[in-house]
Amino acid sequence: MNKLKRLLNNLGFSDQDSPVENRLLRIISLIVSVLLLPIIVANHLLGLPTELNIILVLMSAIYATIFYFSYNREITLRLKLWFFGVGYVSMIPLWFLNGGMMGSIYPFYFVMFFIGSILFEAKHQIVFVMGLVVHLALIISLELMFPEFVFEYDSIENKKLDMIVTIVAAFFTLSVLLVVFRLAYERDRLKLVKTQQVLDKSNIMLKEAKEVAVNASQAKSNFLAQMSHELRTPLNTITGASDLLAKSELNTEQQELVKLMRESSSVLLNIISDILDLSKVEASKVELFEAPVDVIELFDNMAKFARFKISESNKVLDFNMELSEDLPRFMKLDEVRVRQIIVNLISNSIKYTDKGGIILKSEVIKRNEQDYLRTSVIDTGIGIKQDLIDKIQQPFYQVNASSTTNSTGVGLGLAICKGLVDLMEGEFGIESSINQGSTFNFSIPLKVATQREIKKNMLPIPNESSVLESTRILLAEDNQVNQFILSKILMTMGIEPTMVSNGEEAYAAVKKEHFDIVLMDVQMPKMNGLEATRAIIADDEIYPKPHIIAITANALKEDERDCMDAGMNDFISKPVSYDKLRERIRHGLGTIATRF
Ligand code: ADP
Repeated sequence: MNKLKRLLNNLGFSDQDSPVENRLLRIISLIVSVLLLPIIVANHLLGLPTELNIILVLMSAIYATIFYFSYNREITLRLKLWFFGVGYVSMIPLWFLNGGMMGSIYPFYFVMFFIGSILFEAKHQIVFVMGLVVHLALIISLELMFPEFVFEYDSIENKKLDMIVTIVAAFFTLSVLLVVFRLAYERDRLKLVKTQQVLDKSNIMLKEAKEVAVNASQAKSNFLAQMSHELRTPLNTITGASDLLAKSELNTEQQELVKLMRESSSVLLNIISDILDLSKVEASKVELFEAPVDVIELFDNMAKFARFKISESNKVLDFNMELSEDLPRFMKLDEVRVRQIIVNLISNSIKYTDKGGIILKSEVIKRNEQDYLRTSVIDTGIGIKQDLIDKIQQPFYQVNASSTTNSTGVGLGLAICKGLVDLMEGEFGIESSINQGSTFNFSIPLKVATQREIKKNMLPIPNESSVLESTRILLAEDNQVNQFILSKILMTMGIEPTMVSNGEEAYAAVKKEHFDIVLMDVQMPKMNGLEATRAIIADDEIYPKPHIIAITANALKEDERDCMDAGMNDFISKPVSYDKLRERIRHGLGTIATRF
């Protein structure tokens, strides 16, 4: 058996890459070609006509040729047709030379039928069997028409002997074919099992690799969160202190220095925010907060921003806004994120345009039966080479990074925009020609806000400074410097806060007297901000509850969620600026006013 296997292997039968049918055709052609030789000898000894042997020699040669060419898998079907074509054609003279209807030809038919059923695919089987039947019917009719062409054996013994030789040859051929077929089947099955095992293994490896990647990404975002925490805390002090300094009496030189300080810390803060933002987008940690937004107001603000930026840049640029008529006024979207994208695109367009102008355009478009809000920022600036359009959307990529050294970006803006647009299930697009200008656009699904949603969410926020002055605020902060700065900011607003320096004291203070708002640092000794909040919420004696705003250097979404889970109402990440704090306090007062 091993020898047979080796022989088969040597004949190319073990060519694992070629389909089983190719390998079968190969081996069958060889067997038939070789087996015809002893039959020819036997025929000669039995005194059968020489024409018969000439035909058999020809057949053997053709099958040997098919064997030779069957290496080439591209011509398998053609070879199969040759195989059976030669068989059918030669069967006609063989029929007559082997004694016709009463002769020894039937085992040939049987072998043909067997080979055909192995070699042809299911869809060709019926055609093949019908061909065989038609061939048989045709040849019988021919014999009935021309009975004189049928070869008569010398003796009845020779006829019997010929019959025996043909049956033995057919039997032998069929046995070899069965063995070969079985081997091929076993081999393929083993290969399948092995492939399955390899697949299972690589599946496990892939899962492990994915886990490693997920852990690595987790570690990366934790590291970034930690880093931003460490950087934001001192930055908080710098921005707060410089904000306060700017509001005091200063001479011109001091004003310049404070301005420089504020600008540099704001650049630093922007870079930290960008890195943190990108890591959050990449780790899918950004959650969208969709709420009804007055889109016209949003775009008006964006136009104000663009005009301010242009004047700040000292460039002479036109600015135009084109809002399509059918733009619904109130839409549900994450205003902060949409604003972030537009601000980024407008800032870039001003940065990379020296003459001409900028257009901010917004319209409703239809794609796949769905309405989208498409916003475009079009400029007449330096443009981008076609082959760089994909690259600039990748993090940290800047065209001519060296020439933009005076700019504040680090090449993260577009990557963040694209990530945010993806998150909104929208599309981000760039069209640009060098020295002609660029169009950056993004389309997000259009969600029109209902009247109920508008009423529920867009409550008027009290904005009287007298309201602020009468607000009772508790400031819970353990860090002395932060305590000093936050209280100074509050005092600038006309608010005199009560101050405590840990969670325990905060809880006790709220229990003792009523506060409208508690500004609660999260990391504090004895009892942290989360624990203090839980205690306040759980205490039935504390009524009405204060509006609790977390103040923390941890800017990740999970931290925000932890605060909300503990029962806090709002969240401000450090550094806390005057504007940010004022805005959140006003918002808080608005919420309190609507409770009753
Ligand atoms: P940054 O502006 O901080 O360098 P961005 O991710 O916002 O990073 O932009 C990446 C690069 O894309 C920029 O460095 C600039 O080369 C190119 N780019 C962005 N906006 C424009 C624009 N409006 N015109 C020409 N080039 C632009």
